[in-house]
Amino acid sequence: MTEPAGNVSDTIARRGLILILSSPSGAGKTTLTRAVAQDPAWALDLSISVTTRARRPSEIDGRHYHFIDREAFEDLRARDDLLEWAEVHGNFYGTPRRPVEKVLGAGRDMIFDIDYQGTRQVRSKLAQDVVTVFILPPSMAELRQRLERRAEDSAETIEKRLANARTEIQRWVEYDYVIVNEDLQNAFQALQGILAAERLKRARRTGLAAFVDGLLAETP
Ligand code: 5GP
Repeated sequence: MTEPAGNVSDTIARRGLILILSSPSGAGKTTLTRAVAQDPAWALDLSISVTTRARRPSEIDGRHYHFIDREAFEDLRARDDLLEWAEVHGNFYGTPRRPVEKVLGAGRDMIFDIDYQGTRQVRSKLAQDVVTVFILPPSMAELRQRLERRAEDSAETIEKRLANARTEIQRWVEYDYVIVNEDLQNAFQALQGILAAERLKRARRTGLAAFVDGLLAETP
């Protein structure tokens, strides 16, 4: 869990971080990112991507994605309004830059659900502030079952995603942390551990020097 409010450690200024989760479709990354972003205890803002992909029946525009057409996507790209962008499964996806700058500027943290191509771009721009996690399925059979259970994509789309999964899984070596998502509860715990440790990293904690100066100035 995050430290209780009012904890001295929480009052020490720190740079905001970007927690990136990547995985092949169906490994559970979207379930993880959504649940984490909705629980205030995690104190993470979710980055809402823009995409040219068609909206799934269960998705809400502005909440899961901003669904836009190709022309609008190209406009954003031309105006340098995207922190990163990529073509995935034949559709375009991108991260709007301004919300990220706002959240990090306020010293808060943000969670991204993006692919390896986007991860590379964000890492090259904001290396110090990026923590990357790759989510693996426990087996390929389970991955197929999860895609079929979701029942929101056509059979053709599912086959395309399974074929792409093989390529995507091979990117695991580029990530800081790897979680095998066999049990959702365990995956949550692993993610919580990663976030807690990363938030305590000395290099992020800009207010630590002043805090230590204050400690040393105290008379015990
Ligand atoms: P889906 O269509 O299943 O929602 O997402 C397909 C893939 O696109 C997933 O791997 C997801 O992480 C990735 N994705 C979603 N948003 C973005 C984004 O803004 N940038 C990049 N590079 N990938 C994204």
